[in-house]
Amino acid sequence: MTDAPTRFEVWAPTREAPPPRSRLYSLEPIGIGTPEVESLSSYLNRLAQAHCVTVTTLIAHELLPHVGTPVPARARRAASPSRGGLRGLGQLARRLYGLGRTAATWVNGLEAVTGRCDLRFLTLLTWRQVLPDRHVFSPVVRWCPVCFDAWVTTGHPLYDPLLWKLKPITTCVRHQRRLRSRCRACQQPLTTFSGRSRPGYCSRCGVWLGTAGGTDLEPDERLREEDWPWQRWVVTTLGELLQAAPRLASPPVAETVARAMTAYKAAHTAAGRPSLRDTLGPTRKRVGKWARGEARIQLDLLLTICLHAGISLVQFLTEPPPAPPPPEATAPHPMPGARRTARWHPKGTNREALRRTLAAALAHAGPPLSLRAVAKQVALASRTLRYYEPELCQHIVDRYVTYRTQRRAHLRHVLEHALQEDPPPLLAHLCQRSQVTPSMAWHHFPDLCRQLVARAAWDRHQQFVALQCTLEHALAETPPPTVDRVAAKLGRGANGLRHHFPDLCRQITARHQAYQHAGFVQHRQALLEEIRAVAHALHAQGIFPSSTRVAAQLSRPRNIGSAANVAELRRIRRELGWKQ
Ligand SMILES: [Zn+2]
Ligand SMILES: [Zn+2]
Repeated sequence: MTDAPTRFEVWAPTREAPPPRSRLYSLEPIGIGTPEVESLSSYLNRLAQAHCVTVTTLIAHELLPHVGTPVPARARRAASPSRGGLRGLGQLARRLYGLGRTAATWVNGLEAVTGRCDLRFLTLLTWRQVLPDRHVFSPVVRWCPVCFDAWVTTGHPLYDPLLWKLKPITTCVRHQRRLRSRCRACQQPLTTFSGRSRPGYCSRCGVWLGTAGGTDLEPDERLREEDWPWQRWVVTTLGELLQAAPRLASPPVAETVARAMTAYKAAHTAAGRPSLRDTLGPTRKRVGKWARGEARIQLDLLLTICLHAGISLVQFLTEPPPAPPPPEATAPHPMPGARRTARWHPKGTNREALRRTLAAALAHAGPPLSLRAVAKQVALASRTLRYYEPELCQHIVDRYVTYRTQRRAHLRHVLEHALQEDPPPLLAHLCQRSQVTPSMAWHHFPDLCRQLVARAAWDRHQQFVALQCTLEHALAETPPPTVDRVAAKLGRGANGLRHHFPDLCRQITARHQAYQHAGFVQHRQALLEEIRAVAHALHAQGIFPSSTRVAAQLSRPRNIGSAANVAELRRIRRELGWKQ
């Protein structure tokens, strides 16, 4: 042991930079990587709650200055911190749920201020290259009251799932009810961002939106039996889409969808399935554009295609299409792993519902429906209907054929009758009067239509010639009339005449003005002569011919009038030797 002091090793800590700080609280989003993932507006509302401010204050004072452009100009103007007004936030909310630049900029900005890197999964931005930019999100705020109640009961934080924002979804499958879109207390639709908005409460009156169980289920919130399979499938497949987004190595590209579409088309044709027109309705023509990648497929059609092809939406959008099956292996349903539960079954309630629909179509009070229209209503091919209900279908077809025959006969009668009318009516007016479309008339009776149009044109020409004659006659009339008077005699508008016969009308007007002027000059000359005569007569009697005296002795006693007449009288007086 020694008392000598021990040298301790000097520990010189290197100055380390503190980990980066985020400007706002780095609130964790709910349910990323699950179908129940939170929506971006819900996250913003919760973030504002975490900062003990309203969401409008958060946007106006924190986000707008830091997120930068592009934001809707109106929102930027209205929500500037100095004014504190927030009128443009409805527009901002709508764009936040688009797939455009605003959404991307806001997500990037929010990720920067919260220090998070997963906020894009609260939107559909991952799918922006393959999904259409319209009709994806619902324009109204919707919610399931029972879900809110369940979360409160279990202590789960309140939020709005992204699924409730998607337009094709109208139902909470878990609680078997339609989503609600109007507050029961104030009867108003909710706004996405307002001073009062927070998940679970009305953004207008602040009332609690949750209810326990199905106690308040109203008739319009009950889902019809036949809508269930479709809604269940839509919720499942869109849920898978939200779930898959964080796991993708890279965002899916448009070419994958174009290739899938081509393969689907080929498989469809090879399998001898009902035509694409039956499956997709009148948008069939766009299939070629989709297959070439020239246009985006609408979300509802995309879902229909996937349902018919028996694959999930994620598969369709991300996986290259399978090689076409060899011809001998082609089954009636070509895509393996088809979701048979989601398909229509000609059994039990479905069969009964189909029969009821067909019977209702037969009893339809208005114009009879075609079989194709009925098939479209039930989203089945016409040939499927014919296969299962041949008799009812035949009735529908017969009824429609009779109706069409009658309609054609009526149309022929109307056109033939119109040809006899004098003056002949315009085809457009005739169609309006008879409640048929011009295209229908042209399609069925092109010759009659042509005759009618030619007659109307000839009639118009005749009218034109007759009008021209009348105007030329008016040029020879005495006294010359005005254009207004000629028009009134013809029962027409003067402006119309001026428009169609500008030269003739100009001549008529000039002639009338010249006549008016000549009359005026003549009248004035006569008056001056009379003044001279009266002045001379008064002078002969030795009376001073004042204006008043002369005026009193005129044939139509009156004031002498204009300064010119008074000057003339003065000149006469000077001639006669009067000083004044
Ligand atoms: Zn629910
Ligand atoms: Zn309310």
